[in-house]
Amino acid sequence: MKYMLENPLEGSIGLVKYACEITWRNGKFMADEPVKAGGADTGPDPYTLLLSSLASCTLITLRMYIDRKGWDIAHIAVKANLYQTKKDDTVITIIDRDINFLQEVTAEQRSKLLEIAEACPISKILQGDILVRTYTYNDADAEKQLKYTNGQVTVVWKPEFCKHSGRCVTQMPTVFNLNERPWVNMQGATTEEIIAQVNKCPTGALRFFENSTP
Ligand code: SF4
Repeated sequence: MKYMLENPLEGSIGLVKYACEITWRNGKFMADEPVKAGGADTGPDPYTLLLSSLASCTLITLRMYIDRKGWDIAHIAVKANLYQTKKDDTVITIIDRDINFLQEVTAEQRSKLLEIAEACPISKILQGDILVRTYTYNDADAEKQLKYTNGQVTVVWKPEFCKHSGRCVTQMPTVFNLNERPWVNMQGATTEEIIAQVNKCPTGALRFFENSTP
């Protein structure tokens, strides 16, 4: 299992209603609520962000395909909106996406481009099974770290960063085993193998230092 983003997206909010600062790999932007919902509209609201993701993914995927085909289609525009309805006790969200090629395209091109748009990565996420896993932490936890050593190398585990991706326990169960105490057995593999596995932790929860250089 590997996260799609090298570093997680980060968001934070203070007391100013409802200004959220979102940090992504190349900068920051604001998200907010509209005035009618008590915010100051300093940035897109969460629904708009969701639709922006779908719109941009659609446009990028179409552009890649059109360029690969060498078709002469210079501009594409997308409009997206959503509404919700209820069936029995289930909330159903309907997202409508309108794609405008702003110029003549053949019926054959249009049909292929519709197929490509429907297969863009964000469409697939939204139409597949989604599981949102939520963990809670506080600053006091941030100081917690546990250390395990074999004399040559020390593995440091910071529980608050562990997102339970399971990579360590599935790939090296002789060392990382949640059913054992301590859960890290430094005798279960060579120092080199342990270091290689620690480097695969996607969240930085596992780190190491060589004992000569603490
Ligand atoms: S320590 Fe790293 S690799 Fe292991 S479960 Fe936690 S996040 Fe995944």
